Amino acid sequence: MKIFTEPVKLQKWAESRRLAGKKIALVPTMGYLHEGHLSLIAAAKKKGADEIVVSIFVNPIQFGPNEDYARYPRDEKADLAKCRQAGATAVFFPTPDNMYAADHSVYINEMELGNSLCGARRPGHFRGVCTVVAKLFNLAKPHFAVFGQKDYQQETIIRRMVRDLNFDVKIVVAPIVREPSGLARSSRNTYLSDAERAQALALSAALAEARAEVKRAGEVDWKTCRARIVRKLQANKLKVDYVEAVDADTLKPVTKLVAKKTTVLLAVYCGATRLIDNAVM
Ligand code: AMP
Repeated sequence: MKIFTEPVKLQKWAESRRLAGKKIALVPTMGYLHEGHLSLIAAAKKKGADEIVVSIFVNPIQFGPNEDYARYPRDEKADLAKCRQAGATAVFFPTPDNMYAADHSVYINEMELGNSLCGARRPGHFRGVCTVVAKLFNLAKPHFAVFGQKDYQQETIIRRMVRDLNFDVKIVVAPIVREPSGLARSSRNTYLSDAERAQALALSAALAEARAEVKRAGEVDWKTCRARIVRKLQANKLKVDYVEAVDADTLKPVTKLVAKKTTVLLAVYCGATRLIDNAVM
C-alpha cells in the first residue's frame, strides 16, 4: 500500500496508473476509521477498482470556529492498518499546509442544496467540503468516488457539483453502516459517554418508526409524524437541531412522507456532541 503526504506525488502516481489503464477509486474520509468507512472501500473493490485511494484529512476549512476541529479524533497508525486490511492500495495523508497555500483564495460554492439542513446551521461547511473534494478529484484522478449515505446532504451536493462543473468522476453512494443497536457509526461516537450512547439510540429508532409507518400507511402526514419524532428525541434528553422531511432528490421540504421518494433527516445534540442520521422512507 502506497502512502502519500505530498499532493503532487499522489497526482503523478495517479496519472501513471491512469496511463497504465488502471481504474482508480477514491474514498475521501477524515480518518478515525470505522466500519462505515471500510464499507466504502469494500464498495470500491466490488465496483472493480484496480487502485483504491483512501484520503485521510481533517479538512480545517469545513469546520466552523466553534466546532471540533482541534479535538476531532485522529489515529494515523490504526487507520493505516485498517486501510491495508480492507484492501486500499494507496492512502493520502496530507497536512493542512500542503493542501492549502497560505494565500489560498479559490473555493467552490454550491448555491442551492446547501442552504438548508446542515448547511443552514454550519455556515461555510459545504463550501469547505466541495473545495476539498474538488482538490482530491484533481489529485487522485479517480474514475469514481465513494461517499456514504450517512452524510445525505453532502452526497447530494457532491453529485450536483460533479454535474454542474462536469467533473469526469462517477459518484457511488453506499448505505449507512450501523452498530447492532441501530446507532449510525461515526467517528464522533467516541465523544459519547455510555449514558449518551443509550440516549442516541432514539435517533435511529425514531427513523425506523417513521419508516414502518410509511410502509403501513403508504402516505404519512409529516406534521404529525414530526411531532412524534421530536417528542421521542426530547424524551431521551436529545436537543433537536433539526428534524426535516425533504424530497429525496431535490432536498426541498415536503408535507407528506411517501415511500422511496422522501428522506427524513435528523440532527441533534447529545450532550455536547452533534449527531446526524437519516433514512429514505
Ligand atoms: P467522515 O470521515 O465522517 O468525513 O466520512 C467519510 C465518508 O464516510 C463520508 O462519505 C461518509 O458519508 C462516510 N461514512 C461515515 N459514516 C458512515 C456510516 N456509518 N456508514 C456509511 N458511510 C459512512
